[in-house]
This record gives sequence, structure tokens and C-alpha cells, in this order.
Amino acid sequence: MCQHHDNPSFVLKGIDDVVYEERPIPEVTGDEVLVNVKRTGICGSDVHYLVEGRIGDFVVKAPMVLGHESSGIVTKVGPKVKHLKVGDRVALEPGATCRACDLCKAGRYELCEDIIFAATPPYDGTLARYYRLPGDLAYPLPENVTFEDGAMIEPLSVGIHSVSTLGGLKAGQSIVIFGCGPVGLLCMAVAKALGARRIIAVDIVPSRLEFAKEYAATHTYLPVKPIEGETKIEYSRRNAAALKEQLGVAERGPNAIDLVIDASGAEVSIQTGIYVAKAGGTFVQVGMGNPNVTIDIGAVITKELVYKGSFRYGPGSYPMAIGLVASGKIDLKPLVTHRFKFEDALTAFKATKAGKSEDGKTLIKAIIAGPGEEP
Ligand SMILES: [Zn+2]
Ligand SMILES: [Zn+2]
Repeated sequence: MCQHHDNPSFVLKGIDDVVYEERPIPEVTGDEVLVNVKRTGICGSDVHYLVEGRIGDFVVKAPMVLGHESSGIVTKVGPKVKHLKVGDRVALEPGATCRACDLCKAGRYELCEDIIFAATPPYDGTLARYYRLPGDLAYPLPENVTFEDGAMIEPLSVGIHSVSTLGGLKAGQSIVIFGCGPVGLLCMAVAKALGARRIIAVDIVPSRLEFAKEYAATHTYLPVKPIEGETKIEYSRRNAAALKEQLGVAERGPNAIDLVIDASGAEVSIQTGIYVAKAGGTFVQVGMGNPNVTIDIGAVITKELVYKGSFRYGPGSYPMAIGLVASGKIDLKPLVTHRFKFEDALTAFKATKAGKSEDGKTLIKAIIAGPGEEP
């Protein structure tokens, strides 16, 4: 095989149409580094592009390499790179920003209009042997942080951005998290690491609640069943009252909920969360479902609820994520339920979409090994 083209890549060509392609190995210049990818996690967005070819306004129009949750080994450094050397183990932050716009300069680079984000059209992702990125987005991994942990730093950073940066959760506060998928679970892990008093997990699947309780939640809540003929908002009001009653949650004072995170995207979760948050509390929306939902704006006003959207992660998310894992405050290992060879990437996507593998085992996070690597 020609040295300049030994870069097998998992490429999305169209809806449900993926192929392996040899792509050229990217050249590095200036402050860039080339990373030999060792592990890549699959997330809902990757599956969305495969199944629907789009997420909202992001439409796949040309072949695109999938994957954005990765770790690997630095194999080349540009002449301006000072903090990394060939052989360093790193986690990859997959969004390169312009650094010059008002939002980049204001420390909200996740909102940069010119962000080049891996596996968001039209930009190629990390499911390849090599990935090139600005050196400062390759974060060295301490020795006790594995490549698998390194791949999980990306979704953990989403949890940190939601719970810590935007949610502002402090030690001793209480949080409710709707949705016990990977992002919801990682939000719980962050809340636990930050010293939250109560971490209430909400999900409609009892087995997911059991997992959440074992992993990081202090309490769980299984939503009540809808009654025929009631509207969604009527249901949500009743559901919030039941949650409060069952868990002794108050509207204000020490038993109130300081922070609500919706990691489900479900309309009734968003509605319920608004009723559950304390007066003066904060609500962070990180889950994405049907974008058009009905909410009780009266409750938002009378509680002076702060409602924030959470998009990916920003300054400080990666270092904090790596620090919490390295110090043992967050254990990512229980979340990695499935491992695949690079050649079996499509099987990993199918299992992620189904939420389980063919043997019926529940899937939380699937990790794909780099080309030629054993999972
Ligand atoms: Zn992701
Ligand atoms: Zn910018």
C-alpha cells in the first residue's frame, strides 16, 4: 500500500449508504497535528446522518467520513506546535473554530459561525486511520486515562457544558435529569463529581433507571402513565406533581430543584421539567427531539426560570472532563457496553440505532477501534 494513501475511512455516501475508502493522509502545517485514531465512540448524531442524511439544517450533500468522539496517538506535528510530540496519547476535540469572531473572542467558541466540526456536513469525521486538527484541540491524556476513556471525553464534555458551565451546579444543590441515555448519564456523573445533594434520574424505561441509580443518580422517577383525553400539558402538570409528591420535592427551600437538565428532547419531559424546577431555578436543554414544543410560559415568568440551550461544549470543557476522569471522580467504563472492530463499524451503528446488539444486550455506548486495532 502506498504510504500517502494508507488512510482507510468509513464514508457516508447517502442515506443508509456507507463504504470504506482509502483517503489521502492529510498534510500538517503550522499549528496542526496528525493523529492516528485509536478509538471512536458512536453517538446519536452519527446515526442520524446515516439513517436520515441530515440533522435539521445540516444536510449531507457530498460523501463524508463519519465519527467525532475520538482519541489516538500524535504521529506528526506542525512546525508551530510546542506542547505535543510524536507518540503523545490525546483526546480529540472535534470542532476547530475561527478564533477571530466576536463569539470566539467572548469565550463562546461553540457558537462560532465558521466552526469546522468533524462529521457535520460538509466536514469529514474521525472514523479513519488519521485525523488532522489544530494542535490545541489535541489534549494529552494522563497515563491512567485509556483510549476508550479518551473517546468518551467528547460526550462527557457535553455533560460538563450543560451541568457545570451553563447550569452552574454547585456542591449541595439538587438536580433532575430527564433521559438516561449516554448524555443524561454523563450529566449525572458530572453532578455527582461536583457534589450535588440529590440527583434525580427520570426515564420511561425502568431498566435505564436502575442503571442510572447504580451509576450516579441518588433517586429515580418513573413518569406516571397518560390518561386518555388529557392534553400533553395537563399530563405534564400531573406528572410533575407526582414527582414532587413521591420524592418530597418542594417549590422553594432546601428540598427544591436548583437545576433541571432535559437530555431526552421529549415534549412532556420539557414541560414536566419546567414545573419541577424551583422558583429562580435554571433549566438547561441539551436533548433534541421535535423542535416545536408547547411550554407553560406563565410558569417560566412567575418562577423567573432561566432557560438555556446547550450546544456541544466550550472553553474549559475538555480539560475539566479529563481532570475528573484522571482523578477518579468520574468512571466512564460502565458506560462502554459494546466494542467493535473498524471493519464492523456498520454493525456498531446498527446496534446504536437499535439500542441493543443482536444478542439483545442493552447498548449505552459503542466504541469502534481504529483500523487494524483490536477492540
Ligand atoms: Zn457525539
Ligand atoms: Zn469564531
